[in-house]
Amino acid sequence: MAEMTAEEARSRAEALRQEIEHNTYLYYALDAPEISDAAYDSLMRELKALEERFPELATLDSPTKRVGGYVERQFQPIRHASRMYSLDNAMDEEELAAWMDGIVRLYGFLPELCCELKIDGSSLAVTYRDGLLVQAATRGDGTTGEDVTANVMGVKDIPHALSPSAKEALANPDAPLELRGEIYMPKASFDALNLEAEAEGKKPFANPRNAAAGSLRQKDPKITAERDLATFMYSVSDTRAIQVPGQWELLRWLESAGFHVNPDVRLCHTEDEVLAFCRECLRRRDGLAYDIDGVVVKVNDFALQEEAGFTSRAPKWAMAFKFPPEEKTTRLLDITVQVGRTGVLTPVAELEPVQVAGSVVARATLHNEDEVHRKDVRIGDTVIVRKAGDVIPEVLGPVLSLRPEDAHVWQAPKVCPSCGMPVVKEEGEAQLRCVSIDCPAQAHERLLHWVSRDAMDIDGMGDEIIARLVEIGRANDVADFYSLTVEELEQLHTGRVNKEGKPVTLGRTTAEKLVSAIQDSKERDLSRVLVGLGIRHVGKNTAAEIVEAYPSMEALKDASEEDLKGIYGIGDSAAASIWSFLRTPDNVDVIQRLERAGVSMAVKRAEGDAKPQSLKGLTFVLTGTLGELGMSRDEASQALKGYGAKVSSSVSSKTSYVAVGENPGSKYDKAVKLGVPVLDEQQLKAVLDTGEPPVL
Ligand code: NAD
Repeated sequence: MAEMTAEEARSRAEALRQEIEHNTYLYYALDAPEISDAAYDSLMRELKALEERFPELATLDSPTKRVGGYVERQFQPIRHASRMYSLDNAMDEEELAAWMDGIVRLYGFLPELCCELKIDGSSLAVTYRDGLLVQAATRGDGTTGEDVTANVMGVKDIPHALSPSAKEALANPDAPLELRGEIYMPKASFDALNLEAEAEGKKPFANPRNAAAGSLRQKDPKITAERDLATFMYSVSDTRAIQVPGQWELLRWLESAGFHVNPDVRLCHTEDEVLAFCRECLRRRDGLAYDIDGVVVKVNDFALQEEAGFTSRAPKWAMAFKFPPEEKTTRLLDITVQVGRTGVLTPVAELEPVQVAGSVVARATLHNEDEVHRKDVRIGDTVIVRKAGDVIPEVLGPVLSLRPEDAHVWQAPKVCPSCGMPVVKEEGEAQLRCVSIDCPAQAHERLLHWVSRDAMDIDGMGDEIIARLVEIGRANDVADFYSLTVEELEQLHTGRVNKEGKPVTLGRTTAEKLVSAIQDSKERDLSRVLVGLGIRHVGKNTAAEIVEAYPSMEALKDASEEDLKGIYGIGDSAAASIWSFLRTPDNVDVIQRLERAGVSMAVKRAEGDAKPQSLKGLTFVLTGTLGELGMSRDEASQALKGYGAKVSSSVSSKTSYVAVGENPGSKYDKAVKLGVPVLDEQQLKAVLDTGEPPVL
């Protein structure tokens, strides 16, 4: 959090409260949220942090201290037999581990923990009198809920009577009994409902949770009955009523009484077992028929639960491990402009650093001028940041109600921020471009790209050194690297000064290492040269396909555009781009100078070629971290290619197998959707060990 005066904190807290209240109402009362849960949670956390730093701001009625929810006037209020609580959240494994450490401190040992899926639906309380269903209510504000009895009577999952054996096991079989759980809508039913809504020109529900809550809270019970609602029960208003010692046994009793109980539950005895269960659920999340948004970890023993007690909004003996949010809110501090290696000017959001999906995001591309204006993001705004496709952070848009008065609209530059030459925007193009051939920023980016890991992998040639070489005019294109000498590099200023204020030079040892790394790079493969040259549409995989068909630069230069289109995986634009690149005079000159310097322009046969080509014709996609295998994805790809397999970066119906490591990305989802067979790390290992296609 940036430095703030007490006054600034007060007004920020006020604005946050208003915004949270507004969204709480939309969510609970209208079942129509306007922002994502993760963005809502992020606002809530910001408020909580402010209240912790400025305790005078922590009013008793703050949303951070209440169970969020409403009792709408259209429903009769129903007082719960005992309070219905929310849950505290752990946003990552570290927070969950810290909570478990606290539990150990509290009891002096780690008790058994019952871990359940956190069903993303709506809380429901159902009351049985003399074994018969008599009443149903929403959570409401925790103390009082809304009467939805008539609606719940039509939900097929909820038994109208408790099974006789379960009833007999109760401490007092005739006393009213309030049981609790989650009502939800399966994903497939949600999709069908929204299709129907669309066909009828009605507004679709934002997500299955809202669809479930909205379907439950209908004035007309017939409408609820038509909707496919389901339940998982997990709790009771008074644990003493059911004569069992803990949560695990309660779940068994609920099952015996005739309720649906979620089968994915695990009794854990160590912190590691809990974390492993959470990871497992995260991995399996998308394969489930219903939405979950985390795992709930509960102290199993009821006597121990009682010892821990509750805060004003949640039990201290339970914690919800929320799956890493993909969205957060943060402040847009500035918009700067980056000049790419092809001269494209990209506006970049400079953000107050924020953790999103497990990593800190401080910058995000805003793509182009039109996009900045379309999203209407202004400097000073609170913006919503999302990590798309697991890795690339994206600014979704501003939270308008939090816009400060001095937020200002960004103006695109008229000149290149690097070379000062006027920028152009060509007809039909969204991008601004610097067309100057002497633009240092472009040169810098091209040089950086050449030395990068996927290209020539020149160790030690970093951003700073390249910046200096460009600045003194010693490196304008990639061929210039190969004429650098130890003598001139050792004298190169690093841009830093020593204690006496004298400029620091690279020094002999570093210079020697660098020159040796440059020399080593001459022996790299043609495919790396193609990547390094920065030809549009030519990445690592495309380059590998090209050299498969044209194993030398000479052969490639002779290929026509049509020939290039014939290469597996090469589209029209890639073919056109390669063809014209190899005919542009500046590029021809660079390639010739590289050749003269001794940079290899042919394919180096990999060791793998000696192996049987037993995986020929199969295409693999790898996703996630191959922790168990102890290999990087790159290494695994090389090994697969050694057996003749293709390794692609995207999943399609033509993909033969998707191998999945830890924390897989959207490729895993796509594989499941397309029905492409999925391999776990053990199965992939078997393929790599034997070179044989997997046996599934
Ligand atoms: P919560 O969803 O974080 O957790 C509490 C609830 O989890 C319980 O009340 C219970 O209904 C449910 N739950 C599911 N499975 C469970 C299980 N196995 N054991 C115990 N409980 C289980 O907290 P909340 O107070 O219900 O709601 C806050 C949530 O709603 C937040 O995630 C927030 O993002 C979202 N929200 C979003 C908006 C928005 O505008 N998008 C507005 C308000 C609230």
